[in-house]
Amino acid sequence: MKLLEDRILRDGVIVDGGILKVDMFLNHRLDIPLLDKLGEEFYRIFKGHPVDKILTIEASGIAIAALTARHFGVPAVFAKKAKPVTMRDDALHTSVYSFTKQKSYEVYVQRSFLTPGEHILIIDDFLAHGNAAEGLCDLAEAAGALVSGVGIAIEKHFQGGRERLQARGILVQSLAEIEKIENGQVIFLHQP
Ligand code: 5GP
Repeated sequence: MKLLEDRILRDGVIVDGGILKVDMFLNHRLDIPLLDKLGEEFYRIFKGHPVDKILTIEASGIAIAALTARHFGVPAVFAKKAKPVTMRDDALHTSVYSFTKQKSYEVYVQRSFLTPGEHILIIDDFLAHGNAAEGLCDLAEAAGALVSGVGIAIEKHFQGGRERLQARGILVQSLAEIEKIENGQVIFLHQP
């Protein structure tokens, strides 16, 4: 998606270890009209698939999931990184390894918010090694729900997440696909 690729080139900042900071528009300061366009694009891509609910992970997936849910007219649910005391003991949970924080953490979803048999579209800001997206697939499947696909704003192809998800038979669609980060530059798979 050219709009997103152009914005990454303009405002993205490369930090060590293959990490791209997009705090200016995607996960700290939020450019709502841009996020709304991303949501619209996810709708265009996935509208032929059954989608009853959007599932993401806090914090940086929430904004984009919310605007995607708006276009589908369905609710969005986010996995929480800490279990609130108000969450019942039968919460669904799984362990996710964070590439950016270099540690594992548990994520939780209230069981009643994912219904057996419903179709889930997973949305996240980044796909790197695939741990976050796989964790979300695990939660959906533990609830007896079906994963219609995974929609990612920015995919870093060189970290292998796509292969892991596809090996599980999951459809992956990304709006900006980074082939590599080289000499301080982002190289897209399809150059804008
Ligand atoms: P994965 O689990 O696929 O290895 O990484 C995806 C998660 O890590 C995303 O939810 C995202 O928050 C974070 N992440 C991975 N790579 C990057 C990156 O280059 N920049 C930022 N800002 N977050 C990233």
